Amino acid sequence: MDCIFCKIIKGEIPSKKVYEDENLYAFYDIEPTAPTHVLVVPKKHIASILDITPDDAPLMGKIMLGIKKIAKQLGLSEDGFRVVTNTGPYGGQTVFHIHFHILGGQMLGKMG
Ligand code: IMP
Repeated sequence: MDCIFCKIIKGEIPSKKVYEDENLYAFYDIEPTAPTHVLVVPKKHIASILDITPDDAPLMGKIMLGIKKIAKQLGLSEDGFRVVTNTGPYGGQTVFHIHFHILGGQMLGKMG
């Protein structure tokens, strides 16, 4: 499959890894929009939120627990951070492998 994040997970494209376990891979965004900008992706290829099935519910929980662990590892838990999942064209999604942006390291503006 020609998916850039699948290739990153497999190590076929280099990335700055932050965290990895059986289900998840996290790495620094190549074009950061905050002082700390990390992407958390499931190793399973799921294109977007719209493609999640009930069978994926445990994985989604693991992603949230992973985000908590990664945010702590990055030193973001005291000041806080934002988690964003863009979906589809209006959501600004550009890579169609579901991912969760962790944004932190500064006071973030309101979203609109
Ligand atoms: P989206 O726009 O929400 O789909 O987010 C995709 C993100 O992937 C963007 O913030 C890109 O900067 C990031 N990105 C694209 N290619 C790479 C890469 O090769 N390494 C790290 N981040 C990437």
